[in-house]
Amino acid sequence: MKVVKFGGSSLSNAAGFIRCRDIVFTDKERKVIVVSAPGKRNKGDCKVTDLLYLAAAYNEYGFSITPIINKVKKRFSEIVKGLNIGVDVEKEFDEFLAVYREDSGTDYLVSRGEYLCAKIFAKLIGAAFVDAKDLFITDRTGTVDEIKTAKNLSLIKENTPCVIGGFYGGYNGGVKLFERGGGDNSGAYLAKLLPTDTYEIFTDVSGIMRVNPKIVKRARYIDRLTFKELDLLRHLKASVLNQAVVGILSGNGVSLAIKNTFKPSDKGTLIVDGDTPLNAVTGIGLDKGYICVNVSLKKSKADNMCIGAFNDWLKSVVGGVEELIFTDNTATIILQEKKHAHLIEEFLGVIKSNSLVKGCVVKRDLAVLTVVGYAVDKTPSFLPTLFSTLSKIGASTVAINKIAGEAKISVYLDKNIAEEAVKRLNSVLFKPLT
Ligand code: ASP
Repeated sequence: MKVVKFGGSSLSNAAGFIRCRDIVFTDKERKVIVVSAPGKRNKGDCKVTDLLYLAAAYNEYGFSITPIINKVKKRFSEIVKGLNIGVDVEKEFDEFLAVYREDSGTDYLVSRGEYLCAKIFAKLIGAAFVDAKDLFITDRTGTVDEIKTAKNLSLIKENTPCVIGGFYGGYNGGVKLFERGGGDNSGAYLAKLLPTDTYEIFTDVSGIMRVNPKIVKRARYIDRLTFKELDLLRHLKASVLNQAVVGILSGNGVSLAIKNTFKPSDKGTLIVDGDTPLNAVTGIGLDKGYICVNVSLKKSKADNMCIGAFNDWLKSVVGGVEELIFTDNTATIILQEKKHAHLIEEFLGVIKSNSLVKGCVVKRDLAVLTVVGYAVDKTPSFLPTLFSTLSKIGASTVAINKIAGEAKISVYLDKNIAEEAVKRLNSVLFKPLT
């Protein structure tokens, strides 16, 4: 069986609904369908979820929500009209607003986007509609309780296709939203808890790319990779799917396919379980906004424990540093600017006042470039190729982190040269290495 999720851009108008229906109908295994609320129809458009959040904020500050609700109603009415199916949008909204006025809160109102989208899609494909509130049981923070949710799976009948709204569940009799983009998680939980071979996420791109396409225009797609490789590639910032899906699905024998609703015959990307990377070079990630603190010590490595103590202190304040790399008489500490910038002066004060510290150099405006793939660890020519490519463009590295046996290397360098470095590495590393 397959669990299928359609994102908001796939269901932004009636034509999108038809496209998704045809995709469901081409494969009998596609039995459990999760949908997002209608997304943007074009660049200047609004997502239904954003409009509903806006309405809830208006309500909180005592403004009328009627104009925004009318906008959302119009979106749904146009979809229903375009599909020519019997769903009474007016009646649905009368009911939503009546319940909302009884103080049912933002989560209830915002979730109506996915709720109604699921009802309409169920009607269109002749499937059962299951209210996610009755299926997913969450805690107070919106985290799904898998044990309680598993007990509700009887709502999904074995041979009857069904449609469920993503992004929300039930808590204490009310509706509870997941994090933004959490519709992917709804499908992932179902794929994990039901006897599923593949979880398919249909979106508006044909898979995960090896590098950020904003940096490399003709970036190539990754055909197949493991959940582990995808996890190591977090800096790729592949906004194609919610990263939490990796944690929910990996190790459960369910494959994850990323496919394009608008080009359903494109191969897409398949993500599978496994400890061994499937690609010599899986991808190149880049993330900006790092600070490097290089601390030289009076004594040798054996005494570097004081830096470990600083790390413990920082951990207690902000949950730890990004990297802590010891060499003989130095410790290199990498901090994430957005997490630690407000603490940096205090942090430097603590370091400098330590009697073991000789000096301390701070480098700001850094980026981390990560390369993932088995070649990083297994191919002797990999590291010379990487560093000679960087040196050819004058990109000097401020810090390097490479753990033996791990299919990943992180290189910290000046953020102004980082994108050029990704471009060069993209053209060099994706050729077969000798
Ligand atoms: N509609 C929700 C959002 O925009 C959830 C989702 O699409 O996954 O965040």
